[in-house]
Amino acid sequence: MSDKRDYYDVLGVSKEADATELKKAFRSLARKYHPDKNDSPDADEKFKEIQEAYAVLSDNDKRRNYDRFGHNSPGGSPFGPGGFQGFNINLEDILGGDFFSSMFGGRSSRTSRSQGHDILVRHEINLEAVLEGGKDELEVDLPSICEDCQGTGAKDGVTKQCRECDGAGQVRVRQQIGPFVQDSVRSCQSCDGSGRTYDSRCKSCSGDGMQSESQVLRFSIPKGAQDGTRLRMRGKGQPAPNGRGIPGDLFIQLVVEEHPWFERNGMDLIMSLPLGFTALALGSSVNLPHIDGKDLVIKVPAGTNSGDTITISGRGLPSGRGVGRGDVVVLCKLHMPKKFDKGTKKILESIRENLDGKSDLMDKIISDANDRRN
Ligand SMILES: [Zn+2]
Ligand SMILES: [Zn+2]
Repeated sequence: MSDKRDYYDVLGVSKEADATELKKAFRSLARKYHPDKNDSPDADEKFKEIQEAYAVLSDNDKRRNYDRFGHNSPGGSPFGPGGFQGFNINLEDILGGDFFSSMFGGRSSRTSRSQGHDILVRHEINLEAVLEGGKDELEVDLPSICEDCQGTGAKDGVTKQCRECDGAGQVRVRQQIGPFVQDSVRSCQSCDGSGRTYDSRCKSCSGDGMQSESQVLRFSIPKGAQDGTRLRMRGKGQPAPNGRGIPGDLFIQLVVEEHPWFERNGMDLIMSLPLGFTALALGSSVNLPHIDGKDLVIKVPAGTNSGDTITISGRGLPSGRGVGRGDVVVLCKLHMPKKFDKGTKKILESIRENLDGKSDLMDKIISDANDRRN
């Protein structure tokens, strides 16, 4: 069974919500949780969850399937075997141009109708990839120009000049507001600002001018890449509307997978190592497979205390510039079994005197406190 939250709950809408309600709910949540606008650590996950819910519920087929089967659709994830990877919805339309121009470095031309939208795709990498950098690839469905109509949306690409605007794509509107007359220029609605219309619509793309195409993206992961790093692929985003203008950019956002025992702290890798009492008392050596392919040998000196750290230098991650490596920091922790068998217990009893020392426990507490003070 899936432990995913119900998509309707995620967006906070009822099962009967129509497209407008969905869009409204998505817009306000996406604005709230967009990782670029929200610093909380779970914003990224939240944002992905919201995107996924919206991607399903805003698509009639996917929604119908979800209503019938929930998260356990017999066909598997509606996004293919890899699950939900990214986003092909027109985020800019939904969130507004201002939101995106502030996010992607403020290109004022964003609002221009002749530019395709940017697309954000997420890609998981592991620590090995962060360490080595190098080539990677990703298969994803991306919008591309419809070949049958060359992006015009017209049957066989046959278009004609728009009569409303005489091909200008814009119309002058005169408005009477109280005693004032205001002239303004607006994008022509008949031709969507393109200046061209058509008699029959292209059947392949239903007039969208775009089709979805599975593409393999090849890119390089920079050494020392941080979680959330965005790689820009210029012109790989949504094609320009009507097949004319500049396509948007594609952003690949790197998501660094969690490692089973390492936590990342800048260039350093931190882990906690549970050790038995004798391993701490008498010293020991622990071998662990490491991300650089060479075993990590952790030498625990005799007399190590729980909470002591051991630093293994130069075995962490590279810096953003790819030079040098950070350290591995091992936090030693006493692993105390809840129960001992009779034999062990007897042995422990017999050495209790030696281990706990002959001095009074109270004296020990006071002397430790004095040590800390000095
Ligand atoms: Zn027009
Ligand atoms: Zn077409």
